[in-house]
Amino acid sequence: MDHITKLKCLICSREYVPEDIRYVCPEHENEGIVDVHYDYDLINNRISRESLEENRDYSIWRYKPLLPVFADAEVPPLAIGWTPLYDAPRLAGKLGLQQLWVKDDGRLPTASFKDRASAVAVVKARESGAEIITTASTGNAAAALSGICASVGQANVIFVPVSAPEAKIAQLLVYNSTVMLVKGSYDDAFELCLEAAAEYGWYNRNTGYNPYMTEGKKTAAYEICEQLNWDAPDVVLVSVGDGCIIGGLHKGFKDLMALGWIDRMPRLIGVQAEGSNFMYEAWKNDEDILTKAPVSGITVADSISAGLPRDRIKALAAVTETDGAYVVVSDDEILAAISLLARGVGVFAEPAGAAAYAGLIRAVADGLVTSRERIVVLNTGNGLKDIKSSMTAVRMAGSIPHHIEASLTALKQCIETSQISAGTC
Ligand SMILES: *Cc1c(COP(=O)(O)O)cnc(C)c1O
Ligand SMILES: [Zn+2]
Repeated sequence: MDHITKLKCLICSREYVPEDIRYVCPEHENEGIVDVHYDYDLINNRISRESLEENRDYSIWRYKPLLPVFADAEVPPLAIGWTPLYDAPRLAGKLGLQQLWVKDDGRLPTASFKDRASAVAVVKARESGAEIITTASTGNAAAALSGICASVGQANVIFVPVSAPEAKIAQLLVYNSTVMLVKGSYDDAFELCLEAAAEYGWYNRNTGYNPYMTEGKKTAAYEICEQLNWDAPDVVLVSVGDGCIIGGLHKGFKDLMALGWIDRMPRLIGVQAEGSNFMYEAWKNDEDILTKAPVSGITVADSISAGLPRDRIKALAAVTETDGAYVVVSDDEILAAISLLARGVGVFAEPAGAAAYAGLIRAVADGLVTSRERIVVLNTGNGLKDIKSSMTAVRMAGSIPHHIEASLTALKQCIETSQISAGTC
């Protein structure tokens, strides 16, 4: 892995080589998140914007020379990455914006952004020779690890809070993971998983602990820029729980700046739920994120429920170093955004995915973005992950089905009394 120069602790700046440590800086135990550093001159010899134009591998592995894996590493067969970046002119018009895109990561194999990281985890685990991979998760990171493990026949143990949406638990069981439903919060499941991994020697995929998860997640930034012909957007909005995705996006854009492939850094806007607003508070009040007490973490958007965001150092830097911002949105705004996004661009998001769009509405209202800016909203999860919330969302939007007998007469009567024209049925 000659393209990796060092791993650097984000707390004490101590430097390591990948052979020294598996996950965190030993000086700081579980908190000692490290950042992976690369030799960009070397990488620029191995991959270029021109070579990518010829590359027909439309997955995250098209960027393999920029990922922390061996050049000849075998990768899982599932199609991960290169999700569509949809132009959203109707939504843009409604918000008074000139250019808005929605990138839909709900399209990934297990239906969330987490596939990008779990794919790298499975390659790293196999490289280390581990027999079992483990993770704690609010649901999606687990489903992603579970599905990608299934694709290569890799054993895994998953820790999720018992409150995780049923669809996500179903994914884990269908893929035949060993599933621990923890009586407690995600934070409780996380602590238990760390202990278990240490006790049994399992490969640990945990977010904000395993440094390579950021590296998988950064591929979304590469794709956004490549899809826009290397003309980077001005602003990217994404929802934030643990902060690994926003940190990953930041890393991806930083890589592209270092390679000289883009000429400006997008501003990153992190969107949090009111009940899970640790990063927002810390950023707004300039608090010390290493000593700040956890928040409740309660929100309808289960995927961004994180009382103590595990990747908070990277998540804060992503916003402060790009002149971005954090915004908070209420659960009602998140639920309303599910219908708005679906109707405005055809993308059906789970609450945490729709939260990014709710955040854009808020950012426009607060003057955090201007009408001329080119903006990307990232949908991180598919709406089918959480049907209960989407049914609440449509009730709020006043959408109800018509119950009719199976006859044309009944249909005609329904159409007349409800004054709908056949075209809008
Ligand atoms: C995990 C997740 C997020 C938040 O990512 P973090 O890295 O925890 O900030 C947002 N949306 C969805 C759908 C997710 O699964
Ligand atoms: Zn350290």
